Amino acid sequence: MISQYDYYCPKCDQQLSENNQVLFNVQRSNREVVKLYLDPKPRSYKYKCKPWADFQENEVVNFTCPHCKENLESEKYSNFIKITMKVTDKVLFDVFFSRVYGDHRTYVGIEDFEEEYGNKIAS
Ligand SMILES: [Zn+2]
Repeated sequence: MISQYDYYCPKCDQQLSENNQVLFNVQRSNREVVKLYLDPKPRSYKYKCKPWADFQENEVVNFTCPHCKENLESEKYSNFIKITMKVTDKVLFDVFFSRVYGDHRTYVGIEDFEEEYGNKIAS
Protein backbone atom coordinates (compact mmCIF):
# COMPACT_ATOMS: atom_id res chain seq x y z
CA MET A 1 0.00 0.00 0.00
CA ILE A 2 1.37 3.37 -0.95
CA SER A 3 0.99 5.80 1.90
CA GLN A 4 2.94 8.75 0.59
CA TYR A 5 2.64 10.31 -2.82
CA ASP A 6 5.54 12.32 -4.13
CA TYR A 7 5.24 13.66 -7.64
CA TYR A 8 7.93 14.99 -9.93
CA CYS A 9 8.03 16.80 -13.22
CA PRO A 10 9.18 14.35 -15.90
CA LYS A 11 10.92 17.20 -17.76
CA CYS A 12 13.05 18.80 -15.04
CA ASP A 13 12.80 16.23 -12.20
CA GLN A 14 11.82 18.84 -9.68
CA GLN A 15 9.27 17.96 -7.07
CA LEU A 16 5.70 19.05 -7.76
CA SER A 17 4.23 17.93 -4.46
CA GLU A 18 4.63 19.77 -1.21
CA ASN A 19 2.61 20.06 2.00
CA ASN A 20 0.41 17.23 0.87
CA GLN A 21 -0.65 18.87 -2.37
CA VAL A 22 0.56 18.81 -5.95
CA LEU A 23 1.19 22.18 -7.52
CA PHE A 24 0.70 23.05 -11.19
CA ASN A 25 0.32 26.14 -13.28
CA VAL A 26 -2.78 25.83 -15.37
CA GLN A 27 -3.83 27.76 -18.44
CA ARG A 28 -7.52 27.69 -19.15
CA SER A 29 -9.18 27.71 -22.55
CA ASN A 30 -9.86 31.45 -22.07
CA ARG A 31 -6.09 31.97 -21.48
CA GLU A 32 -6.54 32.76 -17.81
CA VAL A 33 -3.64 31.33 -15.78
CA VAL A 34 -4.19 29.97 -12.29
CA LYS A 35 -2.24 27.95 -9.78
CA LEU A 36 -3.82 24.60 -9.13
CA TYR A 37 -3.30 22.52 -5.99
CA LEU A 38 -4.36 18.93 -6.37
CA ASP A 39 -4.97 16.36 -3.70
CA PRO A 40 -2.01 13.95 -4.12
CA LYS A 41 -4.16 10.88 -3.70
CA PRO A 42 -4.82 9.34 -7.13
CA ARG A 43 -8.47 9.52 -8.12
CA SER A 44 -9.37 11.99 -5.39
CA TYR A 45 -9.92 15.00 -7.73
CA LYS A 46 -10.08 17.42 -4.84
CA TYR A 47 -8.36 20.64 -5.78
CA LYS A 48 -7.91 24.26 -4.86
CA CYS A 49 -6.86 27.05 -7.15
CA LYS A 50 -5.60 30.59 -6.91
CA PRO A 51 -7.24 32.75 -8.02
CA TRP A 52 -10.50 30.89 -7.84
CA ALA A 53 -11.52 29.57 -11.25
CA ASP A 54 -14.89 28.47 -12.41
CA PHE A 55 -13.89 25.57 -14.66
CA GLN A 56 -16.46 24.53 -17.20
CA GLU A 57 -17.45 20.94 -17.67
CA ASN A 58 -15.32 19.43 -20.48
CA GLU A 59 -12.99 22.42 -20.53
CA VAL A 60 -9.52 21.38 -21.74
CA VAL A 61 -6.80 22.93 -19.63
CA ASN A 62 -3.03 23.12 -20.12
CA PHE A 63 -0.93 21.98 -17.18
CA THR A 64 2.58 23.33 -16.92
CA CYS A 65 5.37 22.68 -14.46
CA PRO A 66 5.78 25.57 -11.98
CA HIS A 67 9.58 25.06 -12.11
CA CYS A 68 10.57 24.63 -15.76
CA LYS A 69 7.28 25.89 -17.28
CA GLU A 70 7.16 22.95 -19.64
CA ASN A 71 3.81 21.65 -20.76
CA LEU A 72 3.09 18.39 -18.96
CA GLU A 73 0.88 16.98 -21.68
CA SER A 74 1.73 13.40 -22.60
CA GLU A 75 3.48 13.29 -25.97
CA LYS A 76 1.65 10.16 -26.94
CA TYR A 77 -1.76 10.89 -25.43
CA SER A 78 -2.41 14.58 -25.75
CA ASN A 79 -5.59 14.65 -23.68
CA PHE A 80 -3.60 13.45 -20.71
CA ILE A 81 -1.03 14.90 -18.37
CA LYS A 82 1.93 12.71 -17.52
CA ILE A 83 3.84 13.16 -14.27
CA THR A 84 6.14 10.90 -12.27
CA MET A 85 5.15 9.36 -8.95
CA LYS A 86 8.12 8.42 -6.82
CA VAL A 87 7.51 5.74 -4.21
CA THR A 88 11.18 5.18 -3.45
CA ASP A 89 14.30 6.25 -5.36
CA LYS A 90 14.02 3.10 -7.44
CA VAL A 91 10.28 2.74 -7.69
CA LEU A 92 8.76 5.20 -10.11
CA PHE A 93 5.43 5.22 -11.85
CA ASP A 94 4.12 7.31 -14.68
CA VAL A 95 0.81 8.78 -13.63
CA PHE A 96 -1.63 9.87 -16.31
CA PHE A 97 -4.67 11.98 -15.69
CA SER A 98 -7.09 13.64 -18.02
CA ARG A 99 -6.71 17.35 -18.69
CA VAL A 100 -10.38 17.63 -19.55
CA TYR A 101 -12.21 19.12 -16.59
CA GLY A 102 -14.86 16.78 -15.27
CA ASP A 103 -13.24 13.79 -16.97
CA HIS A 104 -12.21 11.79 -13.94
CA ARG A 105 -9.67 9.40 -15.33
CA THR A 106 -6.33 8.70 -13.70
CA TYR A 107 -4.00 5.83 -14.41
CA VAL A 108 -0.98 4.82 -12.40
CA GLY A 109 1.52 3.04 -14.61
CA ILE A 110 1.65 2.93 -18.37
CA GLU A 111 0.48 -0.69 -18.49
CA ASP A 112 -2.84 0.06 -16.80
CA PHE A 113 -3.27 3.13 -18.89
CA GLU A 114 -2.61 1.47 -22.23
CA GLU A 115 -4.61 -1.56 -21.34
CA GLU A 116 -7.70 0.47 -20.68
CA TYR A 117 -7.26 3.41 -22.95
CA GLY A 118 -4.18 3.22 -25.15
CA ASN A 119 -5.60 1.15 -27.94
CA LYS A 120 -8.63 3.36 -28.28
CA ILE A 121 -6.72 6.59 -28.69
CA ALA A 122 -3.74 5.18 -30.49
CA SER A 123 -5.92 3.94 -33.30
ZN1 LIG B 1 9.55 20.87 -14.70
